[in-house]
Amino acid sequence: MFKVNENYLKLPGSYLFSTIGKKVAAYTAAHPEKEIIRLGIGDVTQPLAPAIIEAMHKAVDEMACKETFKGYAPDLGYEFLRSAIAKNDYQDRGCDIAADEIFVSDGAKCDCSNIQEIFSADCRIAVCDPVYPVYVDSNVMAGRAGEYNTVTEMFSNVIYMPCTEGNNFSPEFPKENPDLIYLCYPNNPTGATITKDELQGWVDYANKIGAVILYDAAYEAYISEADVPHSIYECEGARTCAIEMRSFSKNAGFTGVRLGFTVVPKELKDADGVALHGLWARRHGTKYNGAPYIIQKAGEAVYSEAGKAQLKEQVAYYMNNAKVIYDGLKEAGFSVSGGVNAPYIWLKTPGNMTSWEFFDHLLEDVNVVGTPGSGFGPSGEGYFRLTAFGTYENTVKAVERMKTLL
Ligand code: PLP
Repeated sequence: MFKVNENYLKLPGSYLFSTIGKKVAAYTAAHPEKEIIRLGIGDVTQPLAPAIIEAMHKAVDEMACKETFKGYAPDLGYEFLRSAIAKNDYQDRGCDIAADEIFVSDGAKCDCSNIQEIFSADCRIAVCDPVYPVYVDSNVMAGRAGEYNTVTEMFSNVIYMPCTEGNNFSPEFPKENPDLIYLCYPNNPTGATITKDELQGWVDYANKIGAVILYDAAYEAYISEADVPHSIYECEGARTCAIEMRSFSKNAGFTGVRLGFTVVPKELKDADGVALHGLWARRHGTKYNGAPYIIQKAGEAVYSEAGKAQLKEQVAYYMNNAKVIYDGLKEAGFSVSGGVNAPYIWLKTPGNMTSWEFFDHLLEDVNVVGTPGSGFGPSGEGYFRLTAFGTYENTVKAVERMKTLL
């Protein structure tokens, strides 16, 4: 009789967002008359920008014509998109990244979870706590995380770096040396950021101990402050220790369109001098079909003059929501952080409620849905995440309702 991959059985409990979905569905079924406002899942609500829609229509028409029809896409992405990314996201910011170091994909979630495949099974991983769950779960599936302790809610082989109010939600270097360090800035879920000097410290540390930083910059477009780096390649020495993941989901509303990319510099090599660039290229070629031409054309439009202007407005719309939440809840007496360089507000649950108690309280008393902090890791207990990706009208309404809670 066949057996399943036992690593999957080590995954704790049910997935955070499916638990939220079930609770909301049960409440809605019992109270169909109530208007629920969802500020839980970090999904966008604004339609695609006109420049992107126009590019997609044009690409569809090309597919209808014998001369311009496209079949299989190149494994690593079309040259036009890889060049646009290298120029706009890196070279224009003074980062030394070439088009052939960009690997186009269908999103950062897949890249964040698949990248661990090219590392040895005995590599130790370090993650922030709280953390975007994909980093840990993908390593659990790969058998790298060890055993789950139901009391501490931690895996034995994972190095957790607590991010709490005490350290301003910014992790310290771990006591034991990791091989792979996951960093996400601007951060999901805390909305915290890192200064360029602080990130340089991590790059120096990784180079010193021979570790790789897996840098998730999915929320880069939301940076508003000058000393916050947009890419890890702004730091000296990052080419020998860092891989960066990006997404078109949050800067351009592509959650239903699907596009992202990963940067693997050619200098990045393991202890035996094996280049990760070649390994990731091989992995892409074998296990990934490439993003469709129409979608990559849509991605190219993100970097057009019209696209840039329209997306700046879209990001500003969500960041205005972030300000509404941050200012409104702070004024009401909540303890809040994030929301300045990120579309997430991280608030302390009032009255020592657990994250899930506050979730239920919010859902049942004011019909607002958020995300319990404990779902992102043990250090998230006692915290709660709200997203700025709702509509302005719903965001204002949700904050007014929450003000009545204190
Ligand atoms: N990385 C982080 C930190 C995220 O929060 C998310 C989505 O919420 C992703 C990656 C996923 O990005 P994508 O939609 O490109 O798969």
